[in-house]
Amino acid sequence: MTAIAVLGSTNMDLVAYVPKAPRLGETVTGREFRTAPGGKGANQAVAAARLGGEVVMIGAVGADEFGVRLRAGLASAGVETAALRTVEGASGTAHITVDDEGGNSIIVIPGANARVTGLEAGDASRIGAADCLLLQLELPLEAVLAGAEAARAHGVRTVLTPAPAQPLPAGLLAATGLLVPNEHEAAALTGLTDPHRAAEALLREVPEVVVTLGAAGCLYAARGREPVTVAAPRVRAVDTTAAGDTFVGALAVALGEGRAMPEALAWASVAASLSVQRPGAQDSMPTRAEVDRAAG
Ligand code: ATP
Repeated sequence: MTAIAVLGSTNMDLVAYVPKAPRLGETVTGREFRTAPGGKGANQAVAAARLGGEVVMIGAVGADEFGVRLRAGLASAGVETAALRTVEGASGTAHITVDDEGGNSIIVIPGANARVTGLEAGDASRIGAADCLLLQLELPLEAVLAGAEAARAHGVRTVLTPAPAQPLPAGLLAATGLLVPNEHEAAALTGLTDPHRAAEALLREVPEVVVTLGAAGCLYAARGREPVTVAAPRVRAVDTTAAGDTFVGALAVALGEGRAMPEALAWASVAASLSVQRPGAQDSMPTRAEVDRAAG
């Protein structure tokens, strides 16, 4: 079994479905309201656990009703939550408005996630015991950097999703083994809109890069090797929320099982393509049996 540590965010998504989003000062009547667990860290943790990874989640929820639900949701997906602290105040929330055209606007309030400013007792050894550490950028950057450095000190591979796009602290890329930006994040990090050129530039900082390209699949680049494009299965997408998180969770599981990178990328692409055919974030993530069946 692949042991995966995730140092990242947990949020409750609060989604209002409206015919048309309100303008400043306007009130509109919506159609429906839903809550669903999210946050990039928790999404990657659930994706990996559902695919057979042995996953520990490091982060924080608030001392509120959402915190109880977020923890319970992770546990029911099979994620170990002993290192997920409960801190005073509110859990992280994402306030999402989705209109009839599928357009959305989102306000993220980090809440408890903002209180994770470093590692706590036991976190470094949890990271050290894992085959890989998954990081994203929804926690304070000093915590992300501390996680990456702990992984490097233990010889654990770090997989960084640089989202939401932002300037990175010195040393974070140097401690990253595999960087997985989407094409917008790759452009934000390098100023280069062509994914091939962006990947090439990023290889100066990290040994391996996977740029995800939505329905067009992904591009894998490693130092000293020819870049490889891996196609995504052609499917009818209904909701691409958390496609990238499903991809990363699946990739971590496949690599931990010893698959070579191109094969691991193809398997992760199948997992992500299954998630886009169903609505929701964590709800849309496939099981191991589904991915193995679809991968053939
Ligand atoms: P999100 O922010 O929605 O989680 P992302 O922008 O991080 O996603 P994408 O590049 O959109 O990441 O998608 C990640 C992977 O998911 C792609 O590399 C691909 O394998 C798969 N994928 C995404 N969209 C589609 C689609 N329409 N059809 C098939 N596969 C898809």
